Amino acid sequence: MSQQKKISVGVLGATGSVGQKFIALLSDHPWFEITEVAASERSSGKKYKNAVNWILTSLLPKKVANMTVKDCTPNLNCQIAFSGLDSSVAGEIELSFAKAGYTVVSNSKNHRMDKDVPLLVPEINHEHLEIIKTQKFGKGCIVTNPNCSTIGLSLALKPLHDKFGLESVNVVTLQALSGAGYPGISSLDIIDNVIPFIYGEEGKVETEPLKILGEYKSGKIQDTKIRISAQCNRVAVMDGHTECVQVNLKKKATIEEIINAWENFKGIPQKRNFPTAPSKPIHYFDDQKYPQPKIHRNIDKGMAVSIGRLREDSLFDYKFVILSHNTVRGAAGGAILCAEMMVEDGYIK
Ligand code: NAP
Repeated sequence: MSQQKKISVGVLGATGSVGQKFIALLSDHPWFEITEVAASERSSGKKYKNAVNWILTSLLPKKVANMTVKDCTPNLNCQIAFSGLDSSVAGEIELSFAKAGYTVVSNSKNHRMDKDVPLLVPEINHEHLEIIKTQKFGKGCIVTNPNCSTIGLSLALKPLHDKFGLESVNVVTLQALSGAGYPGISSLDIIDNVIPFIYGEEGKVETEPLKILGEYKSGKIQDTKIRISAQCNRVAVMDGHTECVQVNLKKKATIEEIINAWENFKGIPQKRNFPTAPSKPIHYFDDQKYPQPKIHRNIDKGMAVSIGRLREDSLFDYKFVILSHNTVRGAAGGAILCAEMMVEDGYIK
C-alpha cells in the first residue's frame, strides 16, 4: 500500500488477553495507528496502564500506556474498530459500531456465522469480502476472524482440499490457557491436569471451516461439504494450540505430494508482502518430535502454522499434527491481517 497517512484504529476490549496482543502488534504498524482504547466500565476513565494487567513479555507501548480507556460506545475517534470483546457483550456492541459507520474487525464468535459476514482467512477466502456489499450498515461493516483452533486447521486443510479434495476430518485439540482469556482458568483447576471440555468450542471447529473453505457464488457464501468431528481439550500450555488431525482424501496422494502442497501454499498476503503476513503460511517439519508449542508458536511472527508427523493412518488416509499461536494467528494478528487485506482490496480507504 502506498499511503502517507496512517489509518486510525481503536481496540474494543483492549485490556483483555486478545486486546493486549492487539496493542502490542499495532504499536509499530506501518499502516495503522492506535487512536482509541476501550473496555468495560471497570476500566473506562482510567489510564490504560492503570486499567490493564499487562501480561505480555514485550513492554507496554508508552503512547498507549497514557491513553484514557473509553466506554465501548460508538463515538470513538477511529475508522477501524478491532474487537477483542467478551462474547457476552460483543454482538450488540459490534452492531452499534457498524451501524455508526465503523469498520469492525472482530475476534468474537457472535457474528461469524451471519450470512452476510465474511469469516476471513486472507490466504484462503479474500473473495468472501464481496459479501460486505450486502450488509445493511451504510458506510460501516463487520468482518470476522475465525475461532483460534479453526484458523490453524483451515490453513492446514486448504491446500489438501484444493489439490486432493477432503472427504472427512477428525481433530483432537490441545488448547492453551491464554485461549480462555484473562485471568482464565484457576491454577488449581489446570496444574497437573487436562480439562476435556471447552464450552461451545467443538461446534465452532466443526462448522467454521465449512464456511471458510466455501465458495462465494451468486452473492452468497456456500459452505463446502466435508464431515468434521472435533474433540477439544484445555491443557497447561501458555500459548499455542496443538491439534492432532486425521483426514480422508477424495483423490489418492503420496506423503511427498501432501508436503509439497503445504510447502508451496501461498496467498495474497505473501505475494503482496503485507506487514503482518508470515513469509510462508505453513512450515512443515520432518523431525518427528515437532511441532511443539514452546518451540514453534512464534515462528514467522506467530502468524504461521507449523505441521509435522504426517503419516499413513489405519482408520483414515493420513494423520498429522498442527500448531498455531492462538492469540496471534488465532486472534489479534489474524484480525490485523484481515484489515490489511481489506485495505489492499479497497474496502478500507
Ligand atoms: P478477556 O481476556 O476476558 O478480555 C475481554 C475483554 O472484554 C476485556 O477487555 C474486558 O474489559 C472487555 N469487556 C468485558 N465485559 C465488557 C462490557 N460489558 N463492556 C465492554 N467491554 C467488556 O477475553 P479474550 O481471551 O481476550 O477474548 C476476547 C474475545 O476474543 C472473546 O470473544 C474470545 O472468544 C475471542 N477469542 C479469544 C482468543 C484467545 O486465544 N484468547 C482467540 C480467538 C478469539 P475489562 O478488562 O474492562 O473487563
